[in-house]
Amino acid sequence: MSDAAPLHRRHRSVLPDWLALYYADPIELTHGEGRHVWDSEGRRYLDFFGGILTTMTAHALPEVTKAVAEQAGRILHTSTLYLNRSMVELAERIARLSHIPDARVFFTTSGTEANDTALLLATTYRRSNQILAMRNSYHGRSFSTVGITGNRSWSPTSLSPLQTLYVHGGVRTKGPFAQLDDQEFTDACVADLRDLLGQTRGQVAALIAEPVQGVGGFTSPPDGLYAAFREVLAAEGILWIADEVQTGWGRTGEHFWGWQAHAQHGPPDIVTFAKGIGNGASIGGVIARAEVMNCLDANSISTFGGSPVTMAAGLANLSYLLENDLQGNARRVGGLLLERLRAVAAPLAGVVEVRGRGLMIGVELESPQAATAVLEAARARGLLIGKGGLRGDVLRIAPPLSLSVTEAEEGATILAEALREVLNCD
Ligand code: PMP
Repeated sequence: MSDAAPLHRRHRSVLPDWLALYYADPIELTHGEGRHVWDSEGRRYLDFFGGILTTMTAHALPEVTKAVAEQAGRILHTSTLYLNRSMVELAERIARLSHIPDARVFFTTSGTEANDTALLLATTYRRSNQILAMRNSYHGRSFSTVGITGNRSWSPTSLSPLQTLYVHGGVRTKGPFAQLDDQEFTDACVADLRDLLGQTRGQVAALIAEPVQGVGGFTSPPDGLYAAFREVLAAEGILWIADEVQTGWGRTGEHFWGWQAHAQHGPPDIVTFAKGIGNGASIGGVIARAEVMNCLDANSISTFGGSPVTMAAGLANLSYLLENDLQGNARRVGGLLLERLRAVAAPLAGVVEVRGRGLMIGVELESPQAATAVLEAARARGLLIGKGGLRGDVLRIAPPLSLSVTEAEEGATILAEALREVLNCD
């Protein structure tokens, strides 16, 4: 029995049953540094999943730690009713980076709340509760965001306040469109969108989509799919919301935002972000052009988003990310890692596909049981990875963006060993 076992029992007795934990013998992480974390028994792991969980740049990044400590020593939180210098500064920087004209930024404490706010804006602006979302999508599990999460296995309730229609385009490896090339796939998805719009009554408020589906298993549509959608949507005044919770801040390597692979007709109307920007501090947010952001007749939505401590973390983290060109690092090291994984994993029987963009790499397996077993086998060898996909059959790799070439190679070697053990390839 591990040191974490008594804590696991306490977790089980006081927290909700649905608060899922990875591993048969769950891990208690006690500290981290760079791309590594340590558990309560002193075991060290290379972290290939923290980037998705919230550690965007590196664990215990000294620049962020210092900024948070300094701010915590002054004032922890005031209220959105007072001026907040760091909130204004971070909003200005994000607005500039967003490419959205006349952009306004509102900070929340999580991605779910950011998407809730985006839905509030879109439904109010358009005076409609009809929303288009993607099949297999994930946008959170609050009362409204479950209503736009296409992956029903993640949905704790079906009593959504929204009327949602689900569009094809998120997943390419399975289903009726699996054999199509990029152009044929895009055309089929656009035809599906037009067909759905023909079935709606009155106006639709918005389409919300992840540029690369995260929880859905790191599946990318062909570049330009959302631009093609946008042409159809814009003709009816329907807003485009890009959920950048997993894809923002350079993670996909090639672009700073995931939507930029679909930018032919300009930026989305609304962008939501969260997770990594705080490098562990709870920051989420919404960016929208002023006309959309200011459609609400309210004096605030939340009093806690944008607290000085989280803003200090966000400012320091964003500076580090930009000054060290971590987007470029995601492109270079992510490219190498993808190549390496394609070489060692793709040929194994039981591996369906190795895919990815930047430091967002998915390894799809034939069975969810194998995926669970590979997580355990990788953990036993000192590597943490994640899992996702509609059936839980995709291994998800999203390391901190500062991953080195040596660490990428080490992780690929461990993962290959774990895969070979589970898939009986030796
Ligand atoms: N959107 C996407 C694309 C996500 O992956 C997630 C979290 N996995 C969320 C929204 C919800 O974010 P949070 O967990 O911060 O509420």
